[in-house]
Amino acid sequence: PYDMLIVGGGPAGAAAAIYAARKGIRTGVVAERFGGQVMDTMGIENFISVKETQGPKLAAALEEHVKSYDVDIMNTQRAVKLTGGDLVTVELANGATLRGKTVLIATGARWREMNVPGEKEYRGRGVAYCPHCDGPLFKGKRVAVIGGGNSGVEAAIDLAGIVEHVTLIEFDSQLRADAVLQTKLRSLPNVSIVVSALTTEVHGDGQKMTGLSYTDRVTQESRKLDVAGVFVQIGLLPNSDWLKGTLALTPRGEIEVDARGQTSLPGVFAAGDVTTAPYKQIIIAMGAGSNAALGAFDHLIRSGV
Ligand code: FAD
Repeated sequence: PYDMLIVGGGPAGAAAAIYAARKGIRTGVVAERFGGQVMDTMGIENFISVKETQGPKLAAALEEHVKSYDVDIMNTQRAVKLTGGDLVTVELANGATLRGKTVLIATGARWREMNVPGEKEYRGRGVAYCPHCDGPLFKGKRVAVIGGGNSGVEAAIDLAGIVEHVTLIEFDSQLRADAVLQTKLRSLPNVSIVVSALTTEVHGDGQKMTGLSYTDRVTQESRKLDVAGVFVQIGLLPNSDWLKGTLALTPRGEIEVDARGQTSLPGVFAAGDVTTAPYKQIIIAMGAGSNAALGAFDHLIRSGV
């Protein structure tokens, strides 16, 4: 068995692998796609101490760093089942079973998409999902935010301080965000709110996004909005479906962890976007992965397995 078996090869999993390997313990990493969400990211400007980089470049550096240690990397393998016990087992989609004295889950999350024409085409060229990451790129421009829940309204408030104007678009007839956030939003001079609106298309000039269309669900009329960017805030889905029924998840599917990354199942730790960590960022996931690896190592030396 592995001393530490890590599931997930994004920033959290890679950081955990390096911390584990540096303890001289037998370490394995199973990942569906090494690099994780970073592979889908263009410019990264908030990875502290690196002024500017690109996702695939950072992912390659992550892999190179992990590979400089004695770590078994099992790429393009998907975990489908976890079973607790003195040795924790992880079943893969290809039928293989791996065992770990400790298992560290870092399977990340994915943004829910609008699934409208133009969204994929202009992803990273106007279509954005993370205001902390991409907000400053739209300084002085007009943008839209899709989604009137807490994350959409927080994003709109955040962006209003950076961009020229924000239009918040909500499908329902009212916003669902907490009242204090709605009050703050409505107090801002450069924000408009559109409710009962279904986004139907992202438009562009072939190079970058130029606007979007939505249908007014009351009048059924189609309207067009000229915006340089759209922040899609309709949900971040943790990759935890394969864990349902085995360890404690929040109603949203996030893995509950304590300060050391320990989950509800002994010997099983978790880190990064798949957990209850409130802010989902590369540098935070790396810190959490390192932290959980140290937590798992502590567990290992105390458990005597
Ligand atoms: P992930 O990166 O999601 O990695 C999860 C890993 O687990 C992957 O290897 C995946 O293949 C694997 N996996 C999932 N399920 C399974 C399974 N069942 N079995 C095996 N493996 C599995 N953050 C910033 O700090 N700055 C930015 O500029 C920035 N820009 C972003 C732009 C975009 C378009 C996106 C989508 C995200 C951006 N983020 C940015 C957020 C950042 O990418 C994430 O917070 C970070 O990657 C989370 O790391 P993670 O290791 O927890 O998960």
